[in-house]
Amino acid sequence: MKFEFAELPYAYDALEPHIDKQTMEIHHTKHHKAYFEKFTAALNDSEYADKSIEEIFANISKAPAVIRNNGGGYYNHNLFWHCMSPNGGGNPTGRLAEAINQKFGSLDEFKTKFNEAASNRFGSGWAWLCVKSDKSLSICSSANQDNPLMDVADCMGTPVMGLDVWEHAYYLKYQNRRPDYIGAFWNVVDWKSIGERYERLISQ
Ligand code: MN
Repeated sequence: MKFEFAELPYAYDALEPHIDKQTMEIHHTKHHKAYFEKFTAALNDSEYADKSIEEIFANISKAPAVIRNNGGGYYNHNLFWHCMSPNGGGNPTGRLAEAINQKFGSLDEFKTKFNEAASNRFGSGWAWLCVKSDKSLSICSSANQDNPLMDVADCMGTPVMGLDVWEHAYYLKYQNRRPDYIGAFWNVVDWKSIGERYERLISQ
């Protein structure tokens, strides 16, 4: 597979004041780019060079740590950037809204559970909304750059939405106040993109 390092779908300052420009710029041009470069360097001439990222993750327990950490970091951030938008916030619509209400009772209940997953992840990691193999929704979290596509994950599924809770995602603006950052995420969450991803996954 040939992997690419994509531009953000919006300007670095587009999520202000909720997510600040400096954080977005460093996060994308330094952190995400470093994952991409280390991942692609590790893939070169390896047995993984011709595999899709989903195939790599499905057998990640057998892969070297450099592939697991940097492949996860590359994939997770690609999803994360598309979970936010300057036109974000508000409420989900359509089939995703129906599924959230059915599974969690209400959007507020869903947010409470997702906030808990994001807040309670000790150290660095991610909170996820996933579609499981039976097409149902699930909230979970993972450590470091792991994700639910990996065969080492506590909860298996395909991520629909991911929230980065590494300190590098919020420390410049929010310092130790991770819950404030999680709260700010809901002001920029891109329900349109997330809803479209959900509909694609359940119709596969
Ligand atoms: Mn990050």
